[in-house]
Amino acid sequence: MRAALLSLFLALPSLALDIVYDVRTPRPTTHLFHVTIELSGIEGDSLDLAMPAWTPGYYKVQNHAKNIREFAARGDDGRALAFEMTDKQTWRVRTGGVRSAKVSYLAYAHSLSPTGSDLTDEHAYFHGTWLFMYAVGHTKSPVTLRLHPLPGWKTATGLDPAGEDTWRAADYDVLVDSPVLMGDIDVRTFEAGGAVHEVVIHKSPACDRAVMVEDIRKIVEAQLAIMGPPPYKRYVFLLHFPRWWGGGLEHLNSTSIVHNGEALSDRGQYVQFLFIVSHEFFHLWNVKRIRPAQLGPFDYSKEVMTKNLWVHEGFTNYYGWLAMERGGILKREEYLGKVQEELNHLMRRAGRRITSPEMASWHTWLDPDDSEDVEVSYYMSGHLLGLALDASIRRRTEGKRSLDDVMRLALEKTRDAGYGDDDWLAFVNEASGSDFAEFFARHVSGTQELPYAELLAPLGVTYEAKVDATEADPGLEIQGIAEDLVRVRRVRDDGPAGEAEIDEGDILLAAGGQRLRGSEWGKWLAKRKPGDEVTFTLFRGERMLQKTVTLAAKQKIVHQLQLTGKPAPEQKALLDGWLK
Ligand SMILES: [Zn+2]
Repeated sequence: MRAALLSLFLALPSLALDIVYDVRTPRPTTHLFHVTIELSGIEGDSLDLAMPAWTPGYYKVQNHAKNIREFAARGDDGRALAFEMTDKQTWRVRTGGVRSAKVSYLAYAHSLSPTGSDLTDEHAYFHGTWLFMYAVGHTKSPVTLRLHPLPGWKTATGLDPAGEDTWRAADYDVLVDSPVLMGDIDVRTFEAGGAVHEVVIHKSPACDRAVMVEDIRKIVEAQLAIMGPPPYKRYVFLLHFPRWWGGGLEHLNSTSIVHNGEALSDRGQYVQFLFIVSHEFFHLWNVKRIRPAQLGPFDYSKEVMTKNLWVHEGFTNYYGWLAMERGGILKREEYLGKVQEELNHLMRRAGRRITSPEMASWHTWLDPDDSEDVEVSYYMSGHLLGLALDASIRRRTEGKRSLDDVMRLALEKTRDAGYGDDDWLAFVNEASGSDFAEFFARHVSGTQELPYAELLAPLGVTYEAKVDATEADPGLEIQGIAEDLVRVRRVRDDGPAGEAEIDEGDILLAAGGQRLRGSEWGKWLAKRKPGDEVTFTLFRGERMLQKTVTLAAKQKIVHQLQLTGKPAPEQKALLDGWLK
């Protein structure tokens, strides 16, 4: 049987290209990576090579082709091959019958961020989407990566080693989902769930490195306890600690995190850093393996839309914080404080009443011009939806099931293929044995506020909105204080200024006949009371207008979550099943 299959295989024409990417950094301060692609097994008269328009995990069109220069192609006989660009990111090489070719180009990269790439005399750090063209139609071919680290540099990446400075990837998707860091790095390891975890530290964090590695281990253990055995043999945390803020980006079996190292001496900042670690690590399941069909295999040529980023970013926030509590890094009260922070951020966004979590996910590529008014962060809304679903499932099943079961079921169902856009309701219903159609209609595809008090009471958590309405609110924000003018930056449609038809860009010259100054706006407003009537004299372009505004009361609402002092036995049982 085996022999018969083999001869059948040999009889077929070979469609797989053999692809080697070679990366050199001869002059790091030019920020130019020298990339050569060695291709063999070419068939036909031409071969298309394309740069990705975006980087998976970062839903913005970046057009990485813009940083490519000095493209050239040569056949196996050394002769130059003609080429042309067929769109903004594709090079068509006229191979004219050669079986192998070398394509070379320079890729400019000088952006140290979690989604970026950066070449300096201190490090070579890259995401493959910034450096590597893919052979169109051949993204499933296995690839080899050959690196040439400078003297004193060590290499860290989630790719499988295949000899000295040589790495292998099953295909292009894996190659570009495995960022590489070369430089003066400190690599520490720990074992969890039978897999190796490398903590790669670049530059100096202002904290005890051993404690940091131990805290990361606690997070990993807490998440493995939720999701089951690790689906990798080795996981790599690439941690850069420059002197500015960054964030993180998830990958198949690694993450790249950029964080202000100096700030880590502060406990609050250190906890925030660990949360980023926890969030990115949870992504190895939630979006990397539990993923919409659109998010792998990837179409790198254009935006890919999904309705479910509220699950993939929001639940990742939910489990990011929860794993820190379950791992013993945060106390119960501290954990609830973090959820409360997110809740208050969410409640300040008027867009939550306009844009559903599903639509916010769909919109993410578009970034509307008035996003401050209409958008809602699916990180925040999805986080609270995760909490709400978890609490509801625990209540409906008397603690027998939880969102953890939903995540494990989703992993089981989507392990080898992506899921359809409408599958989440089915996952939740099946894992909980309960119907959540109405919940989804109201809060996922709808914009109804979650009933926090009712949802959280069974877990022994109280919700209260405290209102302070003593300050005056004109319903507008002003822009900087350039030239000491009061220039209107933003007007809330449903606020007093909006109702009086004051517009963005208006310059408020005077109120009640008295001159206004940008530098004194705060002081002026503090002297007003809710209910005061103010007539503004303003410039709108070349016209001078008067508009009368009745100041409203500023609703300063603080949404509070607290543990019940004396929970009932049923509450205590659910709470103990939920938190450590
Ligand atoms: Zn994320």
